[in-house]
Amino acid sequence: MPLYEYEPCDGKCAICGGRFTVHRPVNAPELTHCPVCKKPVRKVVSLFNTPTKLKPLSISDAKRAGFTVLKRIGKGEYERQ
Ligand SMILES: [Zn+2]
Repeated sequence: MPLYEYEPCDGKCAICGGRFTVHRPVNAPELTHCPVCKKPVRKVVSLFNTPTKLKPLSISDAKRAGFTVLKRIGKGEYERQ
């Protein structure tokens, strides 16, 4: 089930802290009101689903993904990282 983030349309919600996340089925209707305080809310576009927000790959990310990272140490020579 995807995770959705909501924030109040105006003001702050003392009960849910102003922002809250909920797990909802994909085909469930969007929440229009905070289930806790009943204030109107709107969905926040999740960072998880935004490809442009992907952080640049680092060596450790590459290693975790199973890549062997080679560092060039000289002409035609590479060192295993
Ligand atoms: Zn609330």
